[in-house]
Amino acid sequence: MSWIENRFEDNVLLTSLDLVVNWSRKSSLWPMTFGLACCAIEMMAFGASRFDVDRFGAGAFRATPRQSDLMIVAGTVTYKMASRLRRLYDQMPDPKYVIAMGACTVGGGPYFKYGYHVVKGVDMVVPVDVYVPGCPPRPEALIEGLMRLQDKIMEQRFGLAKGSKRQLKDFDLPIPAAVTAT
Ligand code: SF4
Repeated sequence: MSWIENRFEDNVLLTSLDLVVNWSRKSSLWPMTFGLACCAIEMMAFGASRFDVDRFGAGAFRATPRQSDLMIVAGTVTYKMASRLRRLYDQMPDPKYVIAMGACTVGGGPYFKYGYHVVKGVDMVVPVDVYVPGCPPRPEALIEGLMRLQDKIMEQRFGLAKGSKRQLKDFDLPIPAAVTAT
C-alpha cells in the first residue's frame, strides 16, 4: 500500500480504507515457526489448544519467512545467530512485525553480565514492535503482547493528518547538484 501512504490528507475514503486494511492485517498475523531457546516452549503452548491463539487469527505458524507476517523472537539471541535472524527478517514480506519475547531477547536476561556471546537486546538486530518481559513469559503474557500489537496495527494510517503538508517521497527529492554537474 506504499503507493497511497502519506500522499493525501485523511478523508472519509482513506479512513475507511485504513479500517478495512488494518482489520485484515491484525486478524491474519501469521507467525514464523522460529524458536531459539526455552522461551520457545511457552510460544509452542501459546499456539497449542489450551491457549488457542487461532482466536486472534495468529495460529497459522508458517515454516518459511516468505509467508510470515510476525516474527516472535523467543529465546536467547547469540551473536552467531543474529545474522541468521536478520536474514530471516529481511526475507519476510512487508508489512512485518516483531515481538521480542523473554528477558534474553529484550535485553540479554540472565546473560547480561557474563554472557559475552549474547546480544543485549534483539532491537540491535531487528526493529521491535512489542516487548514481552519475563523469564520465561507465560503464554498469557505473549497473548497480551499480541493484542497490543493488534492495537498498534489498528492505529496505522495511510493518510496525512489534517492540515499537515505532504511528505517528500523519493521521487520528489531534488536531484543533487553533483549529479546534474556530470
Ligand atoms: S528469558 Fe529465560 S526462559 Fe527465556 S530464553 Fe532466556 S533464560 Fe530461557
